[in-house]
Amino acid sequence: MWVEVILPVPVYSTFTYVWDAAHPPVPGVRVHVAFGRQRCLMGVVRSVLHEAPAMQAKPILRAIDTHPRIQTQQLALWDWMAHYYNCAIGEVMQAALPAFFKVDEGEEGPFTISDGSLAHWRWVGRRSDEGQIAHVFGQLGRAVKQSEALLQYFQCALTWPERADDFYPWIPQTALQANGVDTAHLRALQEKGILEKSMRWESEEHLPDVDAALADLSPAQQAALEEVQDAWAEGKPVLLRGITGSGKTEIYVHLAAQAMALGQHTLMLVPEIALTAQLYRRLEKAVGPGRLAVYHSQVSDSQRRDIWEALVRPDSAPRLILAARSGLFLPLERLGCLIVDEEHETSYKQHDPAPRYQGRDVAVWLARHLEAGLLLGSATPSLESYQHAKTGKYQYVRLDERFGTSVPPQVEMLSLVKYQALQHMEGPFTRPAVEAMAQSLEQGKQALVFQNRRGYSPFLTCMACGWTEPCTDCDVAVTYHKESKSLRCHYCGQSRTPSAQCPACQKSAWQWRGLGTERVQETVEELFPQARVLRIDSDSTRKKAAMTQFVDWLEKGEVDIVVGTQMVGKGLDIQGLDVAVILQADNALQLPDFRAHERAFQLFTQVAGRTGRRDSPGHVYIQTATPEHPVLLAVQAGDYEAMADQLLRDRQAHHYPPFVRMIRLEIRHRREYVASQAAHYLADQLNQTLGGGVLGPDAPAVARVKNVYLQHLWLKLPVDRGLPTTKKRLRQTVDQLAFHPDFKSVKVVMDVDPY
Ligand code: ADP
Ligand code: ZN
Ligand code: ZN
Repeated sequence: MWVEVILPVPVYSTFTYVWDAAHPPVPGVRVHVAFGRQRCLMGVVRSVLHEAPAMQAKPILRAIDTHPRIQTQQLALWDWMAHYYNCAIGEVMQAALPAFFKVDEGEEGPFTISDGSLAHWRWVGRRSDEGQIAHVFGQLGRAVKQSEALLQYFQCALTWPERADDFYPWIPQTALQANGVDTAHLRALQEKGILEKSMRWESEEHLPDVDAALADLSPAQQAALEEVQDAWAEGKPVLLRGITGSGKTEIYVHLAAQAMALGQHTLMLVPEIALTAQLYRRLEKAVGPGRLAVYHSQVSDSQRRDIWEALVRPDSAPRLILAARSGLFLPLERLGCLIVDEEHETSYKQHDPAPRYQGRDVAVWLARHLEAGLLLGSATPSLESYQHAKTGKYQYVRLDERFGTSVPPQVEMLSLVKYQALQHMEGPFTRPAVEAMAQSLEQGKQALVFQNRRGYSPFLTCMACGWTEPCTDCDVAVTYHKESKSLRCHYCGQSRTPSAQCPACQKSAWQWRGLGTERVQETVEELFPQARVLRIDSDSTRKKAAMTQFVDWLEKGEVDIVVGTQMVGKGLDIQGLDVAVILQADNALQLPDFRAHERAFQLFTQVAGRTGRRDSPGHVYIQTATPEHPVLLAVQAGDYEAMADQLLRDRQAHHYPPFVRMIRLEIRHRREYVASQAAHYLADQLNQTLGGGVLGPDAPAVARVKNVYLQHLWLKLPVDRGLPTTKKRLRQTVDQLAFHPDFKSVKVVMDVDPY
């Protein structure tokens, strides 16, 4: 027999090998094979062939498993992703399998994820039938060893958590053995019908039943929940648009609890792993300990293994898994409910390496494939999802009121032009913003300052000659980080100490230009020396437990002013937050990206939504040079739909997603002209094979990164037409480039639905 094997190589196909192991092949088992010059690679069998392939095939080196370790559902997902994102299935496998799955050649096998089950023993009688125990001990009489074994069982049982039903607990054989019990005596008791044996998973016995610590829903929440359930009953995905503070999380919890009651798992995706800490506490209360698992890149390999094992057990207790996008790769056969929180967040997109997938879109596919309920939740849905809601592909459910007594924030524009002219500025702050912050501090409330740029200053400029310090390897200015006294490139991560003099004019007339969070923090500390200031950005939260600590301080009210980047917009709940100041709103509005306005609206609305979550309305101040900007006015009016409808009209008029599907090709080479020539050549070739429609080449805003020059080509394809063939032709044309004598070393990266 022959097998098609998925190998971790960037080649768009599987590979055929002869199966010569003693047991029959099954899709989903792991094998070791020789491949090219690689003596041994680990692969996964995707399918079994019963007819000889056209080409001679080599035998596998060994079968690692006898039973599949990858579910059919996972293989289907890999296949779909490879096709949709136009990458190698081996690349998908690489992303999907955690390190513990990978077996090296030398490793003694067969290494398997054990099914983890252990022998357990239990008294066959009922707890209510007390007399029976004495009766049985009497019967055992002279069988002293058996009596002792039974006694040990009851002693262990006493220390075990009590069960809700009328049975004594299952005790692991290992626990009995630890107390000197011999299995021969247990078997003797089994034969007499006194004890029964079962292979069970240890932890399952310790899991308490789902705790009904569910909050009562408000009438609005209840109505929304019912709408979701109705849509799911028809197999329809749901887009839940609930303003910040409307209590979406509570609806998620109810849906998860329902899935659990049916014995099904729930996967809840979140965009920012640093924020799982806060959500974890809320969810654990609701679903009970032991049922909540967290899965993301910072979770240790052994913890991942625990989750994986828990999910593959056929009778495991249902779980709620709080995960980053990589959670989509878990063995989720029994998935009942899939929730994507803050579904508009661009961090669901994986940029590098392949597969360059959008987690939200993969979630949509996966839920349909597994026939699980799908819920996309956001206060400001992505235009893609909103458009699906408008066309009826998704059910649109709205939650328009905040939970309890809290009311939406009041948003005020502060014109930078005006306050600069009046000289009413304190550093980067306008006077009204400072006064508002001072007032909220006096009242013992909290303030948030939002600046979406980390570091101290994004430009180090020479006042004498105008030179701005660039990165040596990228075409971008370096950012000064005062805390680490270093210049850092945010594109390649390179870091160095600033030189004393300007390399261009040898004078030392450096000036910090622009505003990063470190500098904002400094100003805030000068303005409010008595306040406790906390900075939240990807630098300050880099250390593993940092965010947990921050959440702790926030929940205990030990912070007066938070200075933060977009990280704080993604669902952080700050107690008593009264004032939010958005600095330099124009930066976000002017980014060279067709999504810039959508992103800016989402970002500012999310930040505004953090305020006034208790009984008094929050106050939001947007500092801007363009107070009449339609996006800012929409934030002020809190009118998502008006904004989204307008943006959709623009997208349609200018042929942008969601009305077309975009594919971006990034051409990379160390020499600028080679990159550019290759891009022009490829554009011509593609225009021929695809019959036109290729846009570019153009250089991205940062056209050199790590000493590699970049060029972009864009394709806009109709959303509803023959994509598979187009993608295939695209790939073939790109692959041909490797045979062109001038462009052998050019790298082309394909990104379907780029963000
Ligand atoms: P969202 O995620 O939609 O922004 P949250 O789920 O964070 O809103 O809810 C906002 C606040 O209201 C939270 O502090 C939450 O604990 C509270 N809340 C929401 N729904 C309920 C409920 N049914 N019972 C009690 N408190 C609730
Ligand atoms: Zn100079
Ligand atoms: Zn750099």
